[in-house]
Amino acid sequence: MAKCDEGYICEVCGEDVAEITDSDLYLRYVVGMVDPETLHTTRERHIRCNPALGQFIVDDAFEAVNCTGPFDKRDLDPEFVRQREDLITRGWRRLGEVVKHRLPIVDYPLPEVARRNQIATDST
Ligand SMILES: [Zn+2]
Repeated sequence: MAKCDEGYICEVCGEDVAEITDSDLYLRYVVGMVDPETLHTTRERHIRCNPALGQFIVDDAFEAVNCTGPFDKRDLDPEFVRQREDLITRGWRRLGEVVKHRLPIVDYPLPEVARRNQIATDST
């Protein structure tokens, strides 16, 4: 894994993003917030270093992240928060699955995101 030396450094804290389940970039890819085309040019971050997104992971296996400031989910619309928590939590669990099953990167996204990517590819 020589690429670790240069490619997967968190732009917030400067530490290695060692596990895919710590990766903000791959989490956003899985839930459709990062285009497959821009995946390799987007900077990497730890999920914990991006609390605005990390706060939406609600899972006993994930140590909760608090986001203070304007993006604190406690100040956001409850219905929006509910949808976000559902999507981001499923995305985070999906990262665990892709590691376990060693899936190819094209198969990482959640089913509804994969369908959307497919449509986007077909129309170009
Ligand atoms: Zn970091």
